[in-house]
Amino acid sequence: MTSDAVKWPDYARRHYGSTSATLAPRVIVVHFTESDTWQSAYSTFSQNVANRGEFPGTCAHFVLDQSGVAHQLVPLDLMCRHTIGLNHVAIGIEVVQATHGNSSSWAEQQILGRPAQAQALVALIRQLQGRYGIATTDVIGHAEANRHRLFTDLLGWRNDHTDWSMASMTTLRSRL
Ligand SMILES: [Zn+2]
Repeated sequence: MTSDAVKWPDYARRHYGSTSATLAPRVIVVHFTESDTWQSAYSTFSQNVANRGEFPGTCAHFVLDQSGVAHQLVPLDLMCRHTIGLNHVAIGIEVVQATHGNSSSWAEQQILGRPAQAQALVALIRQLQGRYGIATTDVIGHAEANRHRLFTDLLGWRNDHTDWSMASMTTLRSRL
């Protein structure tokens, strides 16, 4: 990761005006992987493919598998590239679930209806909220990111992802 890490401050500067890639978490963004296993999400992230022509590639701090095990991939004090406009303030959690041709909300319902995974997701978020003093209103879905008060991108980029709609997040937030 050394050669990729040196590119991080440049991304942080271009998009957020930050002088370093150090993260002080204020927001939690929930995603789902569009894959059936955490290993395939890990494999995608570890390939570190340029996204929109820039490095580092996309990643998230945690990948939560369907049995409820949270795999931490990145230290929590390091920015990770998972949500345009919020990477400078947000921890990213990827929940393992594919859509199999269905809608995002279908995928979210599979997660919310799978007790081991859903309870582990709630426990992980609560733990992070306690550690960093993050309000439940600042636990958001990727699809809600463009509207968040801390959203900023100096190049004018915006998210076009549909993972974790407001309706599903309202259900998830009610469990926190
Ligand atoms: Zn996402």
